[in-house]
Amino acid sequence: HPERNRLQVQMQKLLSPRYRDILQQAALAADRMNLQLYLVGGTVRDFLLNLATDDLDLVVDGNHPLVTNGEEPEGWGVKLARSLQTIYPKTKLEIHGKFQTAALTWPDGLWIDIATARTEFYPYPAALPEVAASSIQQDLYRRDFTINALALHLNGSHAGQILDFFGGLEDLENRTIRVLHPNSFIEDPTRIVRAVRFAVRLGFQLDGRTREYAQSASSLVQRYRSKGIWAYQNTRLKQELRYVLTASYWVQALYQLDELGALQYLHPKLAISQELLQQLRRVGAWLFHFSSIYPDIERHNIWQVRLELAIAPYPEAVEVAERLHFNQAGLNRLANFHAWRDRLFPQLTADLPPSQVAKLLERLNVTEAIVLAAVAPASIRRLLYRYLSDWNLIKMPLGGHELKQMGYKPGRHYQTILNALREKVLDREITTVAEAETFVKQQFPLP
Ligand code: ATP
Repeated sequence: HPERNRLQVQMQKLLSPRYRDILQQAALAADRMNLQLYLVGGTVRDFLLNLATDDLDLVVDGNHPLVTNGEEPEGWGVKLARSLQTIYPKTKLEIHGKFQTAALTWPDGLWIDIATARTEFYPYPAALPEVAASSIQQDLYRRDFTINALALHLNGSHAGQILDFFGGLEDLENRTIRVLHPNSFIEDPTRIVRAVRFAVRLGFQLDGRTREYAQSASSLVQRYRSKGIWAYQNTRLKQELRYVLTASYWVQALYQLDELGALQYLHPKLAISQELLQQLRRVGAWLFHFSSIYPDIERHNIWQVRLELAIAPYPEAVEVAERLHFNQAGLNRLANFHAWRDRLFPQLTADLPPSQVAKLLERLNVTEAIVLAAVAPASIRRLLYRYLSDWNLIKMPLGGHELKQMGYKPGRHYQTILNALREKVLDREITTVAEAETFVKQQFPLP
């Protein structure tokens, strides 16, 4: 099979020697235990696309049912992982979930996941190869797209063979994202975001039918939603949205999500406009820019801040954000968004002295100011920029230490003195230490 050779060459090239060694040992262990071992999912896809990957997903298929003494049996994946542990004694084994995925981690952080093909508890017909094939086939049939439903057999006499039950190789060739069955998006609407993610990241197109399935699933989900039913798992949706809204291709992804009706999950009126895109670009640029000055701002949360801006116009924004488990800072920003904007924007006029701008903005933290800047008209944006770059960082000629030396008793009135001084410094009425001292002595005479 031509694919077989191509894949082997690519695996040599794309896998580090260590991973190659681990895969080899895993294949030998599977042989010894009479199990079938497969590399599955995104790893196979990426190898075939000649993309490096450090994510090895393995699936193990037993040719016979697990013998149990009435207890929940340990999956084949876990058994294989235990056997690998005898070869790599320094690894740590963790077992996740109902389906017993084994995660084997090396001391330096390298890891592999070994799952058990999911039909191991079924009564099997006798013929071994058929059983093996049907079992891994079931495992692959649960997956999202044909290009993610390929498996590479790693051991036994079929080692090197690609299992392609759903036309994934052809779809890779034609650069197409295709679901395995019409109900796929209804089963799991987060797959719509995944479809967009892969399409944009890999430069693939959604197959025509797949696009239609996505659109009809979107409208179905929306109908449920309007009845108060949220028919998708919010943590997974959050995870997928985080992925696409953090990536460099987020603009394209948003357009495609909009086209498929998937943004309307979040809010029925949500749509992409040039104005919104500009705001989202701006918020990213500002977060990036100011993170060098203010290390605490939410730059790492850019996806959430972008979503905040997208839903902020709608009265249900906080409700949507709560369902997506936004952090508390984000929920606060959304709750206050309209009040801040409506109160501050009319007051922030271009002729306002810096001290007054600072006073108006003093209760906002930096991320809040940046979110407001993203939606502000140019004149107000300019003020916010100067506030964040200069006025908020102004160096004071005097501090508490100097006030003490001047004879002022430490106490709460220090704040009053320093605030009054700050106003003068901001408006450049005071620029030197001497001027500052004179000002303080005159305005706040010592008893
Ligand atoms: P990436 O390179 O971005 O990690 P990936 O294909 O490895 O892409 P994962 O999210 O790590 O994506 O998932 C691994 C595999 O699990 C996928 O290739 C796919 O076969 C399957 N999978 C993941 N999420 C879903 C889902 N929501 N529905 C069906 N199958 C899924």
